[in-house]
Amino acid sequence: MKLTIGHLYPDLLNLYGDRGNIQCFRKRLEWRGIEAEVIPFLSGDPIDFQNLDIVLLGGGSDREQEIVCNYLLDIRDDFHKFVEDNGVVLAVCGGYQLLGKYYKTDKKTIQGLSILDITTEWQPERLIRNIVLNSPLFDTPVVGFENHGGRTYIKDHTPFGKVFYGLGNTGKSGYEGVVYKNVIATYLHGPLLPKNPHVCDYLLERALKRKYGPDVTLSPLPDELEHAANQYIVDRYSDKKYVLKETIKRHT
Ligand code: GLN
Repeated sequence: MKLTIGHLYPDLLNLYGDRGNIQCFRKRLEWRGIEAEVIPFLSGDPIDFQNLDIVLLGGGSDREQEIVCNYLLDIRDDFHKFVEDNGVVLAVCGGYQLLGKYYKTDKKTIQGLSILDITTEWQPERLIRNIVLNSPLFDTPVVGFENHGGRTYIKDHTPFGKVFYGLGNTGKSGYEGVVYKNVIATYLHGPLLPKNPHVCDYLLERALKRKYGPDVTLSPLPDELEHAANQYIVDRYSDKKYVLKETIKRHT
């Protein structure tokens, strides 16, 4: 078995080491004897989505997002088809915002891909801190770091998780990110997947099932250390007990 991972615009969208997520995808496949090919697409490169199983769209500053949006609009239709065809996407922060309709800053409105029915508006106070989520997708919490000026309004979309500690989509809604088909779009920056091996395996398994059929499953890895690190962060930011699979209601 083999998965091909497209890393979109690492020359522009790679804040706080979002590239580490690619390493995590690759290593967790290779440790299981599954081949991994990573194709970086620099801004302006043509992209054949039919050849891809997973797409990573990282975060960027407002300036970089403005540049990248022109390239993204060129590939909009193919990217949209990939998502509707259950292609796996991890979109982080600026990448998350760009999947939506627009990102309105104090200076201009950056047009997004309109793959998700979400909008983002900038406010001067940045939302910066460590964050812990309960996601209905997992028995284990998701931990990370957020740093964004944009507030993202997700309308009827299903959030990635409920904020247990931290700020999330708007700092007020109590929710973080979006899950749509096989897309996880989130503000959690940097090494999201190394810090959350369960999220990495979820995305890998989705991609393998799409390509090789529903019976494919991932064999377990000796990743007790990674899970212990995750638990350490959960314990550090809360003395409350983690609630398993909390029901997440749709919200505006
Ligand atoms: N420029 C966007 C914001 O500040 C996204 C930043 C990022 O990717 N960290 O909201």
